[in-house]
Amino acid sequence: MQTVRAYVGLGANLGDARATLTAAVHALGALPGVSLAGVSRLYATAPVEVTDQPEFHNAVVGLDVPPGPAGPGATGPIALLLALKSIERAFGRKERFRYGPRELDLDLLLFGEERIAVERPEEGRSLDPAKATRLLEVPHPEVGRRLFVLAPLADLAPDLVPPGWTESIGQARARRESIEGASAVRPIGRWDADSGAWAELDA
Ligand code: ADP
Ligand code: MG
Repeated sequence: MQTVRAYVGLGANLGDARATLTAAVHALGALPGVSLAGVSRLYATAPVEVTDQPEFHNAVVGLDVPPGPAGPGATGPIALLLALKSIERAFGRKERFRYGPRELDLDLLLFGEERIAVERPEEGRSLDPAKATRLLEVPHPEVGRRLFVLAPLADLAPDLVPPGWTESIGQARARRESIEGASAVRPIGRWDADSGAWAELDA
């Protein structure tokens, strides 16, 4: 069957973040029609924007997913976004302020070569005005500005140039690293497919 390669960013900074992200990887791989194509290293990262909160853990997974219509449907990017939101809720995510602490954040970073911008219906808008009015925007608009996304994404696809970009993921990672400093993101585990968990990094 023909599939599309999608990339999902994972983040958590409440509870046992490593255990949550490990379980979230398995939940993503268990979605109907979806297979796990790759899992990045696990990173400990400094919070951005709201800096007075616990350190984050971040990772990225590559998924092979069925293609689908850009609009609502059983498959495709919107169906995947809704699946991500239901996994977030299943892991106890509550509505809080933007950039604040969270049990689990799942962002759809890339969906093949697609560029998507879907406005949220009026009644579906968040009460928090700081939150985007976009139901879905792909590539995720923050990817190029966040080392905690670029570093794990570059583990999986350093040479990929996302649609609308003029540089590769690896080049963007190096650019952000020169701004944020290498210590902003610290690799702390490598994915071990046999055990289905991140193992300690060899020193
Ligand atoms: P954050 O921007 O910190 O990840 P949230 O996870 O609360 O904040 O997401 C805010 C909103 O962003 C979601 O309700 C979602 O509809 C919207 N959104 C737009 N594009 C995307 C995307 N590519 N992936 C995930 N959420 C997205
Ligand atoms: Mg999110």
